[in-house]
Amino acid sequence: MNKRIWLSAPAMCGKEIEFINQAFKENWVAPLGPDVDAFEDEMCNYISAKHAVAMTTGTAAIHMALKYIGVENGDVVFCSSLTFAASCNPIMYQNAVPVFIDSEPETWNMSSVALQKAFDKYPNPKAVIVVNLYGQSADMDKILEICDNYNVPIIEDAAESLGAIYKGKASGTFGKFGVLSFNGNKIITTSGGGMLICPDEISKKRILKWITQSRDEARHYEHSELGFNYRMSNICAGIGRGQLTAIGERISRKKEIYDTYKKAFSNINSIEMMPVCDYGEPNYWLSCMTIKVGCKINPTDIIDALEKENIESRPIWKPMHLQPFYKKYDYFTHDSDVSADIFERGLCFPSDVNMTNDDVQRIIEIIRGRF
Ligand SMILES: *Cc1c(COP(=O)(O)O)cnc(C)c1O
Repeated sequence: MNKRIWLSAPAMCGKEIEFINQAFKENWVAPLGPDVDAFEDEMCNYISAKHAVAMTTGTAAIHMALKYIGVENGDVVFCSSLTFAASCNPIMYQNAVPVFIDSEPETWNMSSVALQKAFDKYPNPKAVIVVNLYGQSADMDKILEICDNYNVPIIEDAAESLGAIYKGKASGTFGKFGVLSFNGNKIITTSGGGMLICPDEISKKRILKWITQSRDEARHYEHSELGFNYRMSNICAGIGRGQLTAIGERISRKKEIYDTYKKAFSNINSIEMMPVCDYGEPNYWLSCMTIKVGCKINPTDIIDALEKENIESRPIWKPMHLQPFYKKYDYFTHDSDVSADIFERGLCFPSDVNMTNDDVQRIIEIIRGRF
């Protein structure tokens, strides 16, 4: 059997282990330490942000953004439907009510048409969670304009889009809060981790306190607020610092993989690659496609054919409004149900930067063989 090809596996550059060794030498094996602060600074530098808090997960970062905005019992929060459940689960942690927003076909991301429909029915949501899917920014100008009209803060879920650009500015810096993830399959990883980009020092300090168990200033343990244990460990931050030095190479390789698929399938009429919008540059985290309406082949045929060769691919995220847990909540479509359609016809190709060019060619041949 050929060695397994993964959808998107971690790729170490070598610097990570140096940071870890240094941390061991100095015994900074704890959920604090110099690498945590340095990782935040270096990330801010990379995306031109000012205030960031490193956490255990991206999910925790969304949770704390919602809490800081004041989302609580019964509040309405809008969220992209076409996403991973981590985007909206924290809405439930706050006992709030999610309302799901469809995608637009041009970007696969939040539709401003659907968003406006949602505001027409719910003019007072507490927050809007906008997801940048598979490494490409949503069309933020259109979304910001509507949210500004209603004076509602945006939480930009950039968990999949670190390194992407929208109109010259880094993904993750458009909302009141920006969310990054360093889970194992993301563009860079800390094995597990996340970061919250904050609007100012006040919010950063407050959130930092919450995620370290809300200790008040006192010699004994004094708590006047509910606390969480969400701080990133110094070891994870060391991995992140190493990873960040190689993010440019990772994005170039991801783009090469996308371009190779695009070129190879340009003469197969039934395959449409996920659109790349000219308002920016994605990080090409995953190469995705849809199969044209009317074609007899469906995504599972391709997933099965690849799996037979020990190659991992996967369906597009199943939209939240179709999930058993979330389907009772309100949902606003673009015109037809765009996110459901992308899910039905869509697929994520193997996009692992560890693949060789030969691996990519082999994958292309297997897929070609189905058409
Ligand atoms: C990965 C991911 C998250 C959160 O990630 P964690 O695994 O909690 O770090 C949030 N939103 C989206 C869209 C993601 O893909």
